[in-house]
Amino acid sequence: MREAGRIVAIAHEEMRRAIKPGVSTKALDTIALTVLRDHAAEPCFLGYAPGNHPPFPATITASINNELVHGIPSETRTLNEGDIIGLDIACIHKGFVGDAAFTHPVGEVSRSARRLMDATKAALNAAIQASVLGNRISDVAKATAKSAARSGYSVAREYTGHGVGRAMHEEPQVPNWWHSKKSQVQWQDYDLQVGMTYAIEPMLIAGRSDLVELDDGWTVVTKDGSLTAHFEHTVAITEVGPLILTLQ
Ligand code: MG
Repeated sequence: MREAGRIVAIAHEEMRRAIKPGVSTKALDTIALTVLRDHAAEPCFLGYAPGNHPPFPATITASINNELVHGIPSETRTLNEGDIIGLDIACIHKGFVGDAAFTHPVGEVSRSARRLMDATKAALNAAIQASVLGNRISDVAKATAKSAARSGYSVAREYTGHGVGRAMHEEPQVPNWWHSKKSQVQWQDYDLQVGMTYAIEPMLIAGRSDLVELDDGWTVVTKDGSLTAHFEHTVAITEVGPLILTLQ
């Protein structure tokens, strides 16, 4: 999993370097696929078709500004100065998966966009730091939600992190908020254990948290058009603390 995570990290770094106004999201997708193939890895999103979704047609998801997640790369979708773009990649290498997402600025971005990205990264870091023995997954979820709330943002409540291993999406779920007794959603809580590997992926929203899925069957946007940011790492629970697997 560490090797798969390293390949994902390299692909992210190659894409990050290519980000500038005028570049298409399809060009970023091609960069990622090339890195994966150069390292004998295969994309997990390509052809992925859970539930009623059509097969996902690309290696990465590329989600710009008010697009929360699952944006489909396109030759006609080009980056503009001031955009923020969330890129998500998962790959499988020698039977194991790595999964990570980052949101990047395109050229100079507004202070509010910068603040949202920083807050999302901070929420991810808070969740990673809470991923220690003696804690439960509710502690991780609460750390994420508390960090987001401290910055004044809402988390996307419909989406969670997930176990990662031989498949991209495994049990258990890793929520970004924790339910109250009255909530409709009741997550399953569990003790963290050595050897658990999961992806934590907070998505923060600058405005209202109502979401809509577009007609392409994938792209999720905020209803009110407000900005969103997404950061994700795959993490292992060890005796000496959390180990981030998706680093170079
Ligand atoms: Mg991901």
